[in-house]
Amino acid sequence: MPKGNVKSGTKRRRVVTSPGGKQVTHYIKRNHALTQCAKCGNPLLGVPRRDSLKVLKVPRSKRVPHRPYGGVLCSKCSKEFIKLGEVVENV
Ligand SMILES: [Zn+2]
Repeated sequence: MPKGNVKSGTKRRRVVTSPGGKQVTHYIKRNHALTQCAKCGNPLLGVPRRDSLKVLKVPRSKRVPHRPYGGVLCSKCSKEFIKLGEVVENV
């Protein structure tokens, strides 16, 4: 009988053959969602996934690119925003 925390479907299941020949289910942690641009929704490059505990241990200078709106907007959107002075929603 699986434990309560693995029955909910939050973890992926992988059936593995053990050395004794038995079929055993391994429960594997899912990846966190990619960080997305606030304007266009594309994944941000150079920004780690939203695994809050691991990300918080890394200093902010290593988490996000060094430019205005780094870690919020992608490079293309931040260029447009700075050039045209567009109003960006949800930032
Ligand atoms: Zn964008």
